[in-house]
Amino acid sequence: MYIPSLEYIAGFFDGEGGVSISAKAHKYHKVNKRGCNVEINHIQWRYCAYLVNTNKEVLQSIQSVAGGKIQLTGNRKNANHKPCYRLVFYSNSVAPFLQSIRPFCLIKAKQIEVLLEFLSDFDHTPTVKGYKRIRVPVEVQQKRHRLYLEMLNLNKKGRDTKPLTGTIPIPEAKQTHIPCAKCGRLKPILKPKKSRPTVSPYCRWCFLSVNRKSA
Ligand SMILES: [Zn+2]
Repeated sequence: MYIPSLEYIAGFFDGEGGVSISAKAHKYHKVNKRGCNVEINHIQWRYCAYLVNTNKEVLQSIQSVAGGKIQLTGNRKNANHKPCYRLVFYSNSVAPFLQSIRPFCLIKAKQIEVLLEFLSDFDHTPTVKGYKRIRVPVEVQQKRHRLYLEMLNLNKKGRDTKPLTGTIPIPEAKQTHIPCAKCGRLKPILKPKKSRPTVSPYCRWCFLSVNRKSA
């Protein structure tokens, strides 16, 4: 297999790659340790670096050097188009990849700088339960919002050069959890589907105990 150099990968990334930062707002009520009902506003940040092409072999050869995951991109509008692949870097693989190609990138250099700065205070130390949860200081939250907006502006397409400013266009928070009808513990809001036409009002623990009694 052809082993691409970092310079080649950087050039490929400049032309066929990109980076993105996106955010999802979560808003829900929770009973805290003191028994008070508190509102939780939480922003879930998502970020990745990717390379897109219809030539899977070239992405595989880059993957053999740089890592990442290859995915088939969805919803192709034109059935006549070739299948398209994406080599994506998520989570703790993003920063090492970007650092290795940064010296050779020309077009996407600014985006790389912004994402590396954004990632500089993320703690990727794995723990038993996923990643460590830490309270994020206000300055860091503000910094993330600023870099998020900067990235949106850098990634903007089209001739309209008016930059996005002011309020951060994070999608409106949607209620994702409701309290259980029996114990009040929060449970995710589920949509009915074919295999489960009615959604239980109980959390999964109460659901089990209620079903056991009735059986
Ligand atoms: Zn319950």
